[in-house]
Parts: sequence; structure tokens; C-alpha cells
Amino acid sequence: MNKSSDAQRMEKIVSLCKRRGFIFQSSEIYGGLNGAWDYGPLGVELKRNLKNYWWRVMVHERDDIVGLDGAILTPPAVLKASGHVEGFSDPMVDCRSCKARLRADQVVEKKGVKQCPVCGGKDFTEPRAFNLMFKTRVGPVDPRWSGGAIFPMSPEGATGATGPVSPHVDVSRTRASTAGATVLSESHSVLAEDETAMAYLRPETAQSIFVQFKNVLDVSRKKLPFGIAQIGKAFRNEINPRNFTFRSREFEQMELEYFCRAEEGMKWLDYWLEERLKFYENIGIPRTKLHAHEIPDQERAFYSKGTYDIEFDFPFGRQELEGVAYRTDYDLQQHQKASGKPLEYFDEETKQRFIPHVVEPSAGVDRTVLALICEAYDEDTAPDEKGKLETRIVLRFHPRMAPVKCAVFPLLKNKEPLVAKAKEIVDLLRPHMNVFYDESGAIGRRYRRQDEIGTPFAVTVDFETLGEKDAALCDTVTLRDRDSMKQERVKISELIQLLFSRIA
Ligand code: ATP
Repeated sequence: MNKSSDAQRMEKIVSLCKRRGFIFQSSEIYGGLNGAWDYGPLGVELKRNLKNYWWRVMVHERDDIVGLDGAILTPPAVLKASGHVEGFSDPMVDCRSCKARLRADQVVEKKGVKQCPVCGGKDFTEPRAFNLMFKTRVGPVDPRWSGGAIFPMSPEGATGATGPVSPHVDVSRTRASTAGATVLSESHSVLAEDETAMAYLRPETAQSIFVQFKNVLDVSRKKLPFGIAQIGKAFRNEINPRNFTFRSREFEQMELEYFCRAEEGMKWLDYWLEERLKFYENIGIPRTKLHAHEIPDQERAFYSKGTYDIEFDFPFGRQELEGVAYRTDYDLQQHQKASGKPLEYFDEETKQRFIPHVVEPSAGVDRTVLALICEAYDEDTAPDEKGKLETRIVLRFHPRMAPVKCAVFPLLKNKEPLVAKAKEIVDLLRPHMNVFYDESGAIGRRYRRQDEIGTPFAVTVDFETLGEKDAALCDTVTLRDRDSMKQERVKISELIQLLFSRIA
């Protein structure tokens, strides 16, 4: 596909996401909050299917991995030890012409000259480090800071409006921030930086795993190698949220910290890279669209001995879905040093104590959901009610990921026995999968509505189901396949098993 058709495809995807209730702009009726998204009725199902499948293969189907659900509020000490307070920043520049605030490494060059993507200007400020963490306060807030007028709004804001600025606020620092939360907290920090009352919204889920390493080890009594998995929200005050949900300020991660002996680190890195590639294939993302990009020595974090980015061909380009990094023993060493608490592993065979090394596959839920939608989106042709070919929009989700697994239709809504039978089938399937009952409109329209949200199977109850035409067909239904649009006649008594075998 060429660039303009990729852009059109992306536009269609964004519009479908809103129209059918996958993803909405957060706080939309107030103008929206940049970098935050709400998942609608179908989006939340898709997201859950992804997270549940990750949890199933990473935790439930293995003996060597246990789970954790850590707090989002994180004390500064943790993120100082991990290096985030000092170093979790992106280089930022301002365009002097239109004042757009940009990530320096994302300003593209045209004919060797850097150009502002907003106005085309070529005059930028010097790059400066911008820490991506959101700070907040815990406990009662000083009354001097509780009045609305005291807080400056984000210079960028949802609508671009700039709010009142307090006389207490150091404007130069305020201007160096991009989102309300940071602006707000930076302004507090001018008055008093009381660390005991301060916390960060975690920028990754990983740190609570390292901090709880000893507790989890003691209660689970695992032997190396073993892992701790977590799914949860993370927050980064990205300079330029963009590409729909791809770069958000609030997002979810699915992270595993797999602890091992130092001499086995590289082996487990290779193992996890392959496992993770397989995972994406198993949710419907073909290997041909996935790329394992090995990060060169000079670009890797200094403590890492090997890192891969798993990238996907999005319509807006090849971009990272997941990082798989061999982080050595850096994190546990840092937390042991900073907390003064031993975080060692005791090897009962050799009677040695040591800090284990760790390999971390760290995936983004939102980026994977977006990849699933981009990969699934398709247009083909199908006959309408009168047999005329029309364009059909279809999301070809892997049945495992599809928000609705099976739709159930009575052929006609005003024939009570058909409706009653269809509702019986809904009751039969509902304990096992997410089903959708629809009796309104022509059957072809109903199929189209399900195709557009990616429902892989549709069951129709017709007069043959009632045994009116042929007694042999009594208690059979038509099962229609979304992709081939073929219909087969199946017994109701065999429906659950058949669907299970196709959904997996
Ligand atoms: P990028 O280079 O794209 O900023 P990163 O290398 O900083 O990403 P990691 O710190 O490795 O990302 O985080 C692990 C995963 O978390 C990423 O692969 C991605 O899927 C997800 N992730 C990170 N930042 C964001 C974000 N701003 N919005 C959505 N997902 C994110």
C-alpha cells in the first residue's frame, strides 16, 4: 500500500472504532484529553480477551510463573533507585515559529534540514530533557493549593486553552511541561517539595515486581528460573501523544520479569523472544508483519546485555509493540542498595546467595489492541438483499480475540417459536462465550453488522430448526462463517463443541 492509502486506511479504522464502540476520545464532550482514551463496549471485550489470553499462556499454563498486581502510586525512593527520577526523559524541542512542542528525535528531516511537522518551520530551540513521569500528592493537600484559580492549566490543554497562572508558580518551569498533571505538580514543587507527601504514577509495571521480589519468592517458594507477571496501567507524560492510541499518556502494560542465573541470561533472552513472537501469531498477527529488531550496543540501556524490539507494520509505519530485554541484575541490585534490604536468592544446592539476573518481555496492551484492529480491518464485496454486490467492511479477528464470538438470530422477529428457540440457544451459549442476540432488520443486514465488529460466527434459527419442512432437520441451525460467508447446517446439540474447537 502507498502512503496515502495507508493514511486513508488509518482514518477508516479510527472512524470504525468510534462508530462501533471500540475506542472513544477520553472526556470527549469536554473537548477531549490529549493522550487518553476510553474503550467502549466492544473495545473493552477485545482488550480483556487479549489480557486474559496473555495471562493464560504466561501464568496459568506454566509452572514457573506467578502473578502480581502492584499499586500504581509509587514512592519517589523506588523510582530514584530504578533510575527513572534521574533519567526517564525524552529530549524536547520547541518550534520557534508555531510554538509546537516536539520530541527532538521525532522531528523529521527534509532534504537534510529538520522541519516542524505542524508548520514546516526550521527554527527550533536547543533540545532539553523532559522527565516523562506524572507526579502527584498523597494525603490532604495544603489549602493554599486547593482553589481552582491557583492551578495553571496545561499550556497545550485539551482545547489549546491556557488557564490562569498563579503568582506562586514559576512560569519558566510550567512552560517546560506539557500536560496538566505535571504542570500542576511542578507548580506545587515550587512552594514545597515534601517528599513524604509525594508519589509518582508508575511509568511501568516492572518496578513493583522488583520491589516485591523477595515477598513473592518467599511465598511461592519458586526455584530459578522463575518469573513474576503483571498486567496494569502505566503513565507517561509523552511529549507528543499520537497515532491514535499508539502513543498515549495512560496505557496498560503486560510485563514479565523472568529471573534466572547470570550464565543463562542470553539463553532466556532468545527463548522469550521466540515465545513472544509465537504469542502474536496465536492472536492473529502473522509473522510476516512482525520484526525482531535487535537494539545495537550503543543504543541499549547501559545495564542491558541484549534487547530486541518486536515491531509491527502499522499503517503509519513499522513501530514497537513490545521490548524483550536482558536487564542483568541491575534492578534488584539497585533496590537492594537503596532500600538496605537483602534481595538475594538462596541456592539450596550450592548454598550460595546471589542476586538473580532477569529477562523482561514488556508488551503494551493498547498497542497490541491497535495492531489487532489494524490487522483485522478489511474490505471485500458481498451481495446485498437483492443480490447486488456491495462493499463489506469486515474485521477478521482471530476468533480467540473477537469481542463477540457468536451472534444468534431468529429468521423473523414476529414468529414466536423462532424467537423462543433463538433465545434458548443464547442461554445455551452464554455461560461459555460472549454472544449477541439480534432480531431486527433483514438477515443480510444483521450479518453485515456482525462482520463489521468481527464476530466470527452467526447462528440463524429458521423454519427448518422447528422441523416444519423436514423432520430430520429439527433442532438444527445454520452456522455462518464470517470470513468465507459459507453456511452449514449443524445440530444444536453439537454447537458448543463445534464453536469451542474453532475459537480455541
Ligand atoms: P517507545 O520507544 O515507543 O516510547 P519504549 O521503548 O519506551 O517505547 P518500553 O519502556 O519498552 O517502551 O515499554 C514497554 C511497552 O509498553 C512498549 O513496547 C509499548 O508497547 C508500551 N508503551 C510504552 N509507552 C507507551 C505509550 N506511551 N503508549 C502506549 N503504549 C506504550
